[in-house]
Amino acid sequence: MSLLPQRLRDGYTTFRNGRLAAEQGRYRELAIRGQTPETMVIGCCDSRVSPEVIFHVGPGELFVMRNAGNLVPPYSPDGAYHGVSSALEYAVTMLQVRHIVVLGHARCGGVRAFADDAAGGEFIGKWMSLLAPVAAAIETHGEGLDSYLTRLEQASVPGVAAKPADVPLHSQALRKPHAHPARRLFRCRVGRAVGARRRKPALRAGHAAFFFAAMSLRLIRHSAI
Ligand SMILES: [Zn+2]
Repeated sequence: MSLLPQRLRDGYTTFRNGRLAAEQGRYRELAIRGQTPETMVIGCCDSRVSPEVIFHVGPGELFVMRNAGNLVPPYSPDGAYHGVSSALEYAVTMLQVRHIVVLGHARCGGVRAFADDAAGGEFIGKWMSLLAPVAAAIETHGEGLDSYLTRLEQASVPGVAAKPADVPLHSQALRKPHAHPARRLFRCRVGRAVGARRRKPALRAGHAAFFFAAMSLRLIRHSAI
């Protein structure tokens, strides 16, 4: 008797007979040469927000770190266990990714729990409290809950990008004198792109909202302050 749910067993069979069979060469190459993704994505655990699906990429293209609320905790070399920091460190120093993208989304349960002051439990409440500085920084306009949640979701997305000073500390690769992430930030959201450096075509996804914050490490490395 398999430990896997039937839905996953069926899906794996479909994958094995379909995509895996059709892309044997790519999977074999990845197995032999290892992964060399250019982009790290920090996304939410939410089952509706799969980075590989949203960005329509294949195996080996994204290095993905997902957690509740797509959050990046402060740099804390205190000997504790730091999953996000270790993933960031590995991505930048070992894989030498060129881009880090923080992917947020609408209707985030973690953000909602934080806003409702209902993020309890042994761990989730503490974890979502990382949003406190973000919440404190955005003004409330006496608006409805949905509007406030949307603004909080958007404000929380820059995570890495909004606090570039936290990122270099995760990695020696970013401690180079010329590395200055703040010079290369851009942010875009569904429907329109905003940012100082570049504008991207509007993303058409109806009212489904995904929010991005990204920085290009390649550009950072090649830039000079
Ligand atoms: Zn979420």
